[in-house]
Amino acid sequence: MNCESSRHLLPLYFDGELDPAASRAFESHLDGCAACRQALHELETLRARLRDPAARFAAPAALRARLAATAPARPRMRNRPWLALAASWLAAAAVGAGSAGLWQDRQHAVQAQAQLTRDLFAGHWRALAAASPVDVVSTDRHTVKPWFAGKVAESPPVHDFAAQGFPLAGGRIDYAGSARVPVLVYRHGGHLIDVFVLASADPGLPRQAQMRGYGLRTLALGHATAAVVSDMDEAELDRFAQLLAQGETAAPAR
Ligand SMILES: [Zn+2]
Repeated sequence: MNCESSRHLLPLYFDGELDPAASRAFESHLDGCAACRQALHELETLRARLRDPAARFAAPAALRARLAATAPARPRMRNRPWLALAASWLAAAAVGAGSAGLWQDRQHAVQAQAQLTRDLFAGHWRALAAASPVDVVSTDRHTVKPWFAGKVAESPPVHDFAAQGFPLAGGRIDYAGSARVPVLVYRHGGHLIDVFVLASADPGLPRQAQMRGYGLRTLALGHATAAVVSDMDEAELDRFAQLLAQGETAAPAR
């Protein structure tokens, strides 16, 4: 195992998602690689920090301090300083409490989005590390679509883009958070492309994201959302996402 594949497995190892054989291979790489040991150590430190309740409240306090610092002075009530003081304290408290609440809501949304994004990349890397990235191997969409029936709530529309250089390779079931989702697998040269089909029209994913040389594109697929993950270059990823979006409107699958 080299450092590059080690770095891909790192988050999975960290979350205890690697099978025993992959864990052993990863650990034997760690034994001989100080850089990867350091990367694991940093991840552990980060998690410890995120779990520290003191750290969690540090930002709202800093935000309150900043708001207090930028609050206007109180020159007009100079003759009644106690009233001015009370008013400014009330205002600062209201602004502080409201901002902290908003800030926390926003943080939760940001964290949920980051977690789902990470889940999708992790699913792709897990598939790359597995013996086979597909559970059903087929280039025929009429084989792949019915394979999903009964395994997930709704079979996704399946198109083949072999003519455009992106042949269908098959499908599998993966997880996004706790939800079982159908994944369509395509190939492009030596690249593997995963299309996670999420049941929600707005699963709260970014339009695009990058992680360690892999890219994500999110697009509407009927009333569902397709999340495309691959290590193709940006232009190829965009082209495939466009085909996928057009495939849905141009030639509805059975
Ligand atoms: Zn290494």
